[in-house]
Amino acid sequence: MGILVKNISILGATGSIGQNTLDLVLRERDKFNVVGLTGSDNIELLAESAIKLKADVVATANESKFNDLREILKKYQIEVCGGATGVLEVASRQVDWVMSAIVGSAGLLPGLRALETGANLALANKESMVAAGPIMKKIAKMKSAKLMPVDSEHSAIAQLIRGEERDSLSKIIITASGGAFKNLTKAELIDVTPDQAAQHPNWNMGKRITIDSASLFNKALEIIEAKEFFDLKSSDIEVLIHPQSLVHAIASFCDGGMKAHIGPPDMRHAIAYALYEEKRFNLTMPEVNLAEVGTLKFEKPDMSKYPALELGYEVLAQGGLAGAAFNAAKEEALDNFLDRKLSFLGMADVVRATMDELSSKNHLSSEVELEAVIEIDLQARSVAKKFVGKY
Ligand code: NAD
Ligand code: MG
Repeated sequence: MGILVKNISILGATGSIGQNTLDLVLRERDKFNVVGLTGSDNIELLAESAIKLKADVVATANESKFNDLREILKKYQIEVCGGATGVLEVASRQVDWVMSAIVGSAGLLPGLRALETGANLALANKESMVAAGPIMKKIAKMKSAKLMPVDSEHSAIAQLIRGEERDSLSKIIITASGGAFKNLTKAELIDVTPDQAAQHPNWNMGKRITIDSASLFNKALEIIEAKEFFDLKSSDIEVLIHPQSLVHAIASFCDGGMKAHIGPPDMRHAIAYALYEEKRFNLTMPEVNLAEVGTLKFEKPDMSKYPALELGYEVLAQGGLAGAAFNAAKEEALDNFLDRKLSFLGMADVVRATMDELSSKNHLSSEVELEAVIEIDLQARSVAKKFVGKY
């Protein structure tokens, strides 16, 4: 009997999650046939990855790099596409499994397109669940496609509740490392720079999510992501600061029992669990030495230091288009922080002001339909831009 080969594509193949996915695929090369890869600015890495994995088609989201990419790949039988439409073209190719690992709301349409083909989707792009969770879930259901979380906390929750009766789950706890500034006071956060925020104590990730980890905007997105993935209410989701990043999530059950998911801070665990569709792969990772760790530390987050998390809870409760607006305003604020036009703490101020303005005009209560999501995304970015100069 031959091996069953799985056809896969990786969207955002040149990023941190994308390259970790590649690493796993290369470990069992004969089990996978790589159809499509996408990237953006780093076309050298995209081309190198496509050659190594013998991909059929690649796309760079950056249109201006299309000719250069084509030039690099001219000796190979690899089709080359460019721009956002090129990325959609790759996402449209029929495969069994797609990794959605583009960063930001740019990942929404490609992820949806992949689901529309009926492919099982490993979702690292949490932004698409935050902005359009109901749409993602509806299409997955319609196509009988699996939608699997690739976020350490959410993969942990999926593993913890597997085999349990859904009604017996009373609460989930997701942990946050506290990011680069966990030991700073709020006053000390005033002057921090993008370079300082981009240093994560435990995880090695892309720049944007690393900065979002320091502000806890990432955790704010994750509580909304958890609501969508596991149909939870705001009061069912707790966040605890756990600086060691060893316990990724805890599930509490109605009989007082709690299950914790412990593992090294390495995204290949969550990626492999999705790649092998809920089967465990022998990752040969060093296991956590609990005797050496000795004590696991948890504390309640200080909401005054982390206004982004407080906002996240409000957005979660609000529902509708609030998630899409929140994510877009956050992306705009982060762009401005990176450009040194906005302070670290100013990001939450800008997002709060944006959400207040959009709510007061009653722009957030509509049904989560794709056109409305795209429209509110643009609107939130333009409102946020207006507030940048004021903070
Ligand atoms: P990254 O910055 O390392 O990589 C981002 C990828 O997206 C790259 O391949 C880049 O070329 C591509 N990209 C950037 N802009 C694009 C655009 N406009 N259109 C199409 N493609 C574009 O990011 P990452 O850390 O790998 O994160 C990817 C996603 O996974 C994010 O949604 C992030 O929140 C999520 N995630 C990451 C981690 C992690 O450990 N890195 C953990 C949990 C969740
Ligand atoms: Mg996470």
